[in-house]
This record gives sequence, C-alpha cells and structure tokens, in this order.
Amino acid sequence: MKVKVIEEQCIGCGACGAICPEVFEVDGVSKVINDNISDDLKETVEEAIETCPTSAIEEIK
Ligand code: SF4
Repeated sequence: MKVKVIEEQCIGCGACGAICPEVFEVDGVSKVINDNISDDLKETVEEAIETCPTSAIEEIK
C-alpha cells in the first residue's frame, strides 16, 4: 500500500501523524515518510485517511 498527501488540501491539523506516526510526519503540512506500508499498518493508515478533515490523504493504486 502507498499513500500520498495532497499538500494544497492539508491544513496541518496533525491528526494523521497522531494516528499513524510510522507513516505521517506533520510539520506545517503532512509528509509521507514511509513509501511501502506494511500490511500491519494498513488499518491504521485507513483510519488516518478517514479521519483527515480535508480528505488530503489518498491511496495510490
Ligand atoms: S489529517 Fe489531513 S489535514 Fe490533518 S495533517 Fe494529516 S493530511 Fe493534513
């Protein structure tokens, strides 16, 4: 699984980094720091995608 953050949509709220710090680092805007998300992190990343208030996180298919 891979995800990206649409920077223009990110408001830097920090939610994704709080939910899944293994994948998201938020410093002003969120940045993906893990390009190959393992299966055991998938559910947590999906939670971050659903929680993001601006729908700025997208799965790359
Ligand atoms: S949850 Fe969404 S808006 Fe908040 S920091 Fe993460 S990507 Fe940005």
